[in-house]
Amino acid sequence: MSEATTRFAFFKGQIVPIESAKVSVMTHALNYGTGVFGGLRGYWNEEQEQLYVFRIRDHMKRFIQSASLIRIEVKYSADELVNIITELLRAEGWRENCYIRPLAYKASELIGVRLHNLDDDVTIFSLPFGRYIQNEEGAHVCFSAWRRVEDNAIPARGKIVGAYANSALIKTDAALSGYDEAIVLNEDGHISEMSAANFFMIRDGVAITPPKQSNVLEGIVRRSLIQLLRDEMGVEVVERDIDRTELYIADEAFMCGTGVQVAAITKVEHRSIGTGSIGPITDRLRNLFFDVVSGRVDKYRDWLTPVYQNEPVR
Ligand code: PMP
Repeated sequence: MSEATTRFAFFKGQIVPIESAKVSVMTHALNYGTGVFGGLRGYWNEEQEQLYVFRIRDHMKRFIQSASLIRIEVKYSADELVNIITELLRAEGWRENCYIRPLAYKASELIGVRLHNLDDDVTIFSLPFGRYIQNEEGAHVCFSAWRRVEDNAIPARGKIVGAYANSALIKTDAALSGYDEAIVLNEDGHISEMSAANFFMIRDGVAITPPKQSNVLEGIVRRSLIQLLRDEMGVEVVERDIDRTELYIADEAFMCGTGVQVAAITKVEHRSIGTGSIGPITDRLRNLFFDVVSGRVDKYRDWLTPVYQNEPVR
């Protein structure tokens, strides 16, 4: 990765130098976690000299939905956000993989825990980004002692800033104990997801993932992989509750998300999963995913938005 650093942000309605994109310590979202965010990746294709943003419209739709869950009105349409992001990326001129972070937040500067009668704002920045999990080919995970935030406490299907205190507890306790990531259970003991990624396991050739009602974030990579497994690999996908001990006897497991991409889980605490190295379905799916996101599979080109080109942005 190059030494390139972020130079711009979209802030208060325009693209400005990153140094001037600053909020007050009195900002509501900083005090109460009243913001929502998105996370997208741009993939650099060297041969085509092109930067592809993965499923940008789906991300913008979820971003606006996340915002509405906590009464934040995003004053831009999904299409307008797509244009702002591509303009921002062109200004940065990234020629490597990058990450894009849109944030909608309660911007009022006052004291008072609530969601109503407050001003909302949107900011967006991007940065060069490599791996989020170093051991993507064989992560060692644990079961977190924490429980996943319940939908009836903080809407789990939204990317709500305050809810990420839960994810941060899960991640740090795992990392400081020497694990790459953690699987987090719901209060009922079934698997929900990872600290910031969705979970899949393979048993007898079938891919199994917790359903949308299990306090998961409705991941865009999750949705994409379900389609690739079914349509390109002929693998049956079942969405159902998963017991902790099913993982102990699973053939393969992996986590997925914008940050972790597709990362094999090869060990949980002191137990190996399957053979203890990346399994064949995970390996194939992972390669296919990277081909798709890098613009090497024509069939899935409509999942990608090219940043640098003369033709109109898709
Ligand atoms: N779950 C959580 C809690 C996350 O933060 C993420 C990352 N956005 C995911 C799952 C994966 O979602 P996506 O595939 O949309 O990035």
